[in-house]
Amino acid sequence: MNVFDAVPNQPPEIARQEDCQTCFMCEAYCPADALYVAPQSYTNVAVNEDDLIASSIMGEYRRILGWGPGRKNNSELDTDHKLRLFE
Ligand code: SF4
Repeated sequence: MNVFDAVPNQPPEIARQEDCQTCFMCEAYCPADALYVAPQSYTNVAVNEDDLIASSIMGEYRRILGWGPGRKNNSELDTDHKLRLFE
């Protein structure tokens, strides 16, 4: 959704956070478990990067899905799509 800008030889930067649709796909696809998407889609949530890292929440959605080497694929257990059926 055009949220990130590429930065040469650096991690992408969040350039347009207001465009985020809270779909979690960046967190699900990040192979380094370096992303955390706050689930509060209706408001911005202040976060502290050090606290997120210390709490091991970075990449949590990817871990829950079981995506990544050595993980059991649990994506069939994700019920998020059922919520969207009733919107
Ligand atoms: S949660 Fe979805 S919309 Fe938001 S930055 Fe990640 S991929 Fe883009």
